[in-house]
Amino acid sequence: MESIWSKTAKGVEHERLSGNISVEAAVIGGGMAGILTAFFLHQKNIKTIVLEASKIGGGQTKNTTAKITSQHNLIYDKLLKDFGEEKAKQYANANQEAIKKYAEIINQQSIDCSFEEMPAYLYSQSQQDVIKLEREAQAAKRLKIGAEFVTQTNLPFPVAGAVKFDSQAQFHPLLFLQAIAKDLTVFENTKAVDVDKNRIITENGTVTADYIIFATHYPFINVPGFYFARMHQERSYVLALKDAQKLDGMYLGVDGEGLSFRNYNDVLLLGGGGHRTGENSAGGKYKFLRSKAAELYPQSSEIHYWSAQDCMTLDDVPYIGQFSPSTPNWYVATGFRKWGMTSSMVSAMIISDAIAGIENPYADVFSPLRFTPSASVKNLAADIGQAVKGLIRQNFTLPKAKLDEIPQGHGGVVEHEGEKIGVYKDENEKTYFVSTRCSHLGCQVEWNPDEKSWDCPCHGSRFDYTGKLLSNPANKDLGR
Ligand SMILES: Cc1cc2nc3c(=O)[nH]c(=O)nc-3n(C[C@H](O)[C@H](O)[C@H](O)COP(=O)(O)OP(=O)(O)OC[C@H]3O[C@@H](n4cnc5c(N)ncnc54)[C@H](O)[C@@H]3O)c2cc1C
Repeated sequence: MESIWSKTAKGVEHERLSGNISVEAAVIGGGMAGILTAFFLHQKNIKTIVLEASKIGGGQTKNTTAKITSQHNLIYDKLLKDFGEEKAKQYANANQEAIKKYAEIINQQSIDCSFEEMPAYLYSQSQQDVIKLEREAQAAKRLKIGAEFVTQTNLPFPVAGAVKFDSQAQFHPLLFLQAIAKDLTVFENTKAVDVDKNRIITENGTVTADYIIFATHYPFINVPGFYFARMHQERSYVLALKDAQKLDGMYLGVDGEGLSFRNYNDVLLLGGGGHRTGENSAGGKYKFLRSKAAELYPQSSEIHYWSAQDCMTLDDVPYIGQFSPSTPNWYVATGFRKWGMTSSMVSAMIISDAIAGIENPYADVFSPLRFTPSASVKNLAADIGQAVKGLIRQNFTLPKAKLDEIPQGHGGVVEHEGEKIGVYKDENEKTYFVSTRCSHLGCQVEWNPDEKSWDCPCHGSRFDYTGKLLSNPANKDLGR
């Protein structure tokens, strides 16, 4: 289940932190957001280190589809309505500039990462979506993005309509990341377990820093910031297909199926099957994608498959900037809504400017300290609804299996003396027992048969079948 990026970019290893050090800026998290931020800080002559719990790029970044685009699903018409013209312009300009910055860095540093400029399309096969797509094209044009509504694409099926954005791009994310990390001080296998004012405590030493940047995908500190009350996670799945199709752009469906298409050299990446993390107990997401591949590209063959997840904010805009009102020297970059390539670049621009004392023209719209009740209310209501549904389901209606009913290679929840216990039986008749209480805030985790993992529906923490932590905000394994 390795992504095509992990398979084709091994990278160098960085040492682990040992002992206590002091620096100007410490970035926690070595994904696209953290490494780009450290790269910009380093360029500004600010003494910076990166602390990475595993390997750089080893979080969600290794499993992205790496479209570099300001086309973030249907967003601009909504931004104009919810945030007004000025902030919508900030969002559009920041992301358009992010694309240019990638091209600039790649040219200046001569990075060989299959960077290709190409258009991005949002399409639908349903006539009902045409009005939304037309409005999106108009909104994008109003914000000076090169956009148009079209009815012809080179997808292998007719579309009712599509919005085309010119001059977008795609690349190999890990080759890029490894190249820009080469002059940075990075400590791998160094997990931050706590942060106290300007001290980061890791398992093997502490770092004292004037500025601390949380680029951990989902912040693992609950208070202050309260990000757990402002984000949930959504997961989707990807197949890499040989002998499928060479497309003239990158595509995303806004209809029910939400399929994503892009090429990497002669391989086609087909994505989809999105769902809220922790709500896939029925499974079948890879099966769905495989049925689509067989229908659209019967001659193709699958060479890789993988999945990833991202943080969804209440008002659909990332949280980039000061972490909380009470922590002026802490910064955060999160809530990228599956558009983390440009959002990471925007984070790096805004946060490095703030630390260097430079006013950034895009900072306002992304500020984590913003208050946007009207834009947030729909998602807040949906999040509360999900949490209540989850609680009722977990406590009263969650289907519980009998231990001997769980087949080999499967997991499920059993009840023992009033306690719910997660069980997984491997192919060799070994049985693993874990607590079903998430180590983050105690929600009940749910079995995801597609990934053989225990996933939390509240905030999206994930654990493998032995209970080992896979994805935050949890920072510890499940109880066993
Ligand atoms: C299926 C899918 C497809 C996507 N495709 C696209 C796309 O085409 N274009 C696009 O723009 N975006 C896309 N995205 C979104 C994008 O992949 C993410 O937004 C982006 O990779 C997030 O980068 P990050 O640096 O914030 O997080 P990560 O890459 O997860 O990096 C965070 C790092 O922090 C480390 N960490 C966590 N906790 C600690 C700790 N306590 N101490 C030290 N280190 C820690 C982790 O190990 C990790 O390496 C996609 C998302 C999904 C789900």
